[in-house]
Amino acid sequence: MAASLRVTGLRVNGRRLTAAALLLLAAACAPRSQPPAAPPVTVPPPGMHLWPNRDVIQSACLNDLAATGAEFELVAQAEPGKDGCDLVNGVKLLRLPDAALSRPVELTCPTALRFTEFEREVLQPTARRMFGQPLIQVNHAGGFTCRRMVGGGGRLSEHAHGRAIDIWGFVLGDGTKLSVTEQFRTRGGEGSYLREVSRAACTYFNVVLSPNANSDHKDHFHWDIGRWKQCSG
Ligand SMILES: [Zn+2]
Repeated sequence: MAASLRVTGLRVNGRRLTAAALLLLAAACAPRSQPPAAPPVTVPPPGMHLWPNRDVIQSACLNDLAATGAEFELVAQAEPGKDGCDLVNGVKLLRLPDAALSRPVELTCPTALRFTEFEREVLQPTARRMFGQPLIQVNHAGGFTCRRMVGGGGRLSEHAHGRAIDIWGFVLGDGTKLSVTEQFRTRGGEGSYLREVSRAACTYFNVVLSPNANSDHKDHFHWDIGRWKQCSG
């Protein structure tokens, strides 16, 4: 308000401008705001089914996943499968941003994105800090599979919706293998690495299960972004 009062005395070509003329002049001189850029859209391949109201979310996720440098393919989605298992907004993750996978794994895009973020922000930096070398491979035991929770009263596992991945080990740059089942409780650097990344996983995933959780997870980590919350890293 103070600024507009000060300019009411401005003169142009010897004529005193009225307040209304000044407002018009100010409007004409004001930098024009650019319309917001439309978000990039990823076009699904022919035959791919995107769920109503989820295609925009999926498009943003696919763009974010591609930006990490991960390699993946889209998974064509049919109607929910038998027994309630489904993979909505799924991708087949072929390679993490900076490490190979023991084999491709199918996950929802948000799960794959969280996994790639965890690889870049925790798995790799921790390996470099503790071993002075990168992680070159993550060995997993599956993502999307139609199965029920162990001891879950018949409830579907988050694996049945592609929101979980099981990890049984890693490979370092020099070929050293880290195994959950063999080294999680050992005193050496391998055991320290496995325990540290398992604890850190609790800040990236909703449910983290390790050999600390129960005997069903004595040989692998379970990481998911499903509805439940549990940290047994
Ligand atoms: Zn699992």
